[in-house]
Amino acid sequence: MNKPVLVDRFSRKVDYLRISVTDRCDFRCVYCMPEKMQFLPRQRVLTLEEIYEIARAFVELGVRKIRLTGGEPLVRNGIVDLCRRLSRLPGLDELCMTSNGSQLEKLAPSLFDAGVSRLNISLDTLQVDRFRELTRTGDLHKVLSGIEAAVAAGFKRTKLNCVVMKGRNDDEVVSLVRFATARGLDISFIEEMPLGSIQEHSRVETFCSSDEVRKLVAEAFNLLPITDTTNGPSRYWRAVQAPDTRIGFISPHSHNFCGTCNRVRLTVEGRLLLCLGNEHSADLKATLRANPGRSDVLKGKIIESMGLKPWAHNFQHTDDVQVIRFMNMTGG
Ligand code: SAM
Ligand code: SF4
Repeated sequence: MNKPVLVDRFSRKVDYLRISVTDRCDFRCVYCMPEKMQFLPRQRVLTLEEIYEIARAFVELGVRKIRLTGGEPLVRNGIVDLCRRLSRLPGLDELCMTSNGSQLEKLAPSLFDAGVSRLNISLDTLQVDRFRELTRTGDLHKVLSGIEAAVAAGFKRTKLNCVVMKGRNDDEVVSLVRFATARGLDISFIEEMPLGSIQEHSRVETFCSSDEVRKLVAEAFNLLPITDTTNGPSRYWRAVQAPDTRIGFISPHSHNFCGTCNRVRLTVEGRLLLCLGNEHSADLKATLRANPGRSDVLKGKIIESMGLKPWAHNFQHTDDVQVIRFMNMTGG
């Protein structure tokens, strides 16, 4: 019998779920959250068991890939056990994680052992002081050790994520590519998105388009476009000088990728977001708590919520807040 599938009103198949397992984080990145971030009280947050139940329902409905994110997923107690249980769900092809890397030095081997298939690690700069400035609390050395630990643990195709901001870190684009190629890592450059109100810089002034970043990379490397896809919004290039590294560009502003969107996001409050740039959502926590043990009811709610998925986000170049949620709530 064929596996059931989740399909939205525009015939897009949804087979990828991103789960924010916590809104908390040990960093306070300037583009992601304010310095004095108010975190959610415990009772509003899904328990690990609830996260597992929702993930299982999605996989039984045909989801093939799950990415755990946050906040910082590795600050949530019990995260390794959750990974172990999720990775064993029959039908799930990939369990991935996006992390700031701060805890990877100690946790990379356990995550690998627990069945996590791939890691994305955020790295916006290779300068110690600038790293502290951009993350407000982070220690670059710890993150670099975390990246080495991920490679040593056996993770393949680890990808660095870098948000590029004009005047803040755009002068490091080539150094970051060199760092990635020297270690056989992939790297993606991300345009900053207007999620949550931030005070540190004007998002209009620091906006650096993917085309601008690519030109900077092309000053040092001969780039060839490639057709590899990770089923995501990245468009990939390869440097002739370092063909093992994929250089990706995630361009929510300049190259809208909504037409091929295959993903939905679960917030740590149990809200299913049908689109990163819109507020359309379904309250899966309420459904789960009102119907304990009824996975059929939960699945019915998930199927119904596909009808809420909008066609596209519409991020504008402005400092006005278009989406009130911060990225750590959304699960970037
Ligand atoms: N804490 C983990 C980390 O930093 O990798 C996972 C969560 S974080 C929200 C996921 C990704 O979103 C990171 O790569 C981060 O750089 C990116 N991000 C956060 N705020 C963003 C924004 N406003 N625009 C674009 N990317 C953003
Ligand atoms: Fe934390 Fe990641 Fe947001 Fe930085 S981007 S504050 S590491 S959740």
